[in-house]
Amino acid sequence: MSAILPGATLGVLGGGQLGRMFAIAARQMGYRVGVFVPEDDSPTSQVADFTVNANYDDVDAVAEFARRVAVVTFEFENVSTAATDAAERHAPVRPCGQALHIAQHRVREKQFFCDANVPVTPFAIVNELNDLTTGVARLGTPCVLKTASSGYDGKGQVVIHNASNAESAWEQIGRQQAVLEAFIKFDRELSVVGARGLDGQFVSYGPLHNTHANHILDVTVCPFELPKQISDEAVQIVRTIMDELDMVGVLCVEFFHSDADGLMVNEMAPRPHNSGHLTIDAHVTGQFEQQVRSICGLPLGSTQQHRPAAMANLLGDLWQPEPNWQQLCAMDDVKLHLYGKTEARNGRKMGHITALADTAEQATQRVVDARNVLTDASAIQAK
Ligand code: AMP
Repeated sequence: MSAILPGATLGVLGGGQLGRMFAIAARQMGYRVGVFVPEDDSPTSQVADFTVNANYDDVDAVAEFARRVAVVTFEFENVSTAATDAAERHAPVRPCGQALHIAQHRVREKQFFCDANVPVTPFAIVNELNDLTTGVARLGTPCVLKTASSGYDGKGQVVIHNASNAESAWEQIGRQQAVLEAFIKFDRELSVVGARGLDGQFVSYGPLHNTHANHILDVTVCPFELPKQISDEAVQIVRTIMDELDMVGVLCVEFFHSDADGLMVNEMAPRPHNSGHLTIDAHVTGQFEQQVRSICGLPLGSTQQHRPAAMANLLGDLWQPEPNWQQLCAMDDVKLHLYGKTEARNGRKMGHITALADTAEQATQRVVDARNVLTDASAIQAK
């Protein structure tokens, strides 16, 4: 299969920040970019060559879009199989619709992991209240009930602290198909971002160390101390998943790790991931450039890291009314990325910052300091 070379037009389904950073990487390499998104003025449209505004379930519009591009990828996960099939008739869809189909549904995802011998959190599939009560009895409390579809950043999740709360948790998630998981007392959360080429070439970033606040990723650091055997195991799991799905593109796998119980996969995303954003500034080839290379059938780039790095998300909560960008830009080795969103709502991802330093600890301190100066000019002296 021949490569899609610079000058060609790449299509992305979804108009958020992931599409935006994909489009920036693609344009840097001389590609044109089309975006398919229901909303006007999306973060991706702002940097794309053309936009089609239509709903994801409008399969004719998706097919028409695919006719205009050399390859279709996605940044939005809840695209139906009907839509990816419609696109596939006119242009290759990378990663394939099957990877998306599995990753967008927690029950399918768990079954896939089990079939591939990938370690997961102890779980039960819940189709009705009776499954939930027997699941809670088996897994013990606390445990977490997660809707099978449409959940992200902790949405569609309820922690059950006591067996007597099972029924109210079932009501809370709207009595829909779900997965019940044992609540893991992990020592750390980590992720690995992998990229796989058309010829099966595989490269990876990380493990990246992640901390969450209110279920949303807060800070990612790379590198961090982890026994080599665990690190190798995490990378091998990502490789197994990508090979198993014959995936062409980028995939992130999030893990829980406990010293006592080892690695457990939490979930996967068949696209670049928030925890991989630091690769843009810290690695020879960032995750979005890797996405471009892989879906175009080009050789993948080096994932060598220049310096230790940390990334902090900028949520809408920081807009009171506008963060102090000048103070931030006065800091050395701190890079600002904003996503072009006009309305700052609490919990909304508006941008991120990446700090580079001589050690991971210094990078973490610097990125946290940098975020603090955005709202408190006196928090630290400009460095
Ligand atoms: P998720 O949307 O499944 O990635 O969950 C968001 C965050 O909730 C995770 O990154 C964890 O911090 C926490 N979480 C989710 N599932 C579990 C679990 N089974 N045990 C402990 N913490 C969890």
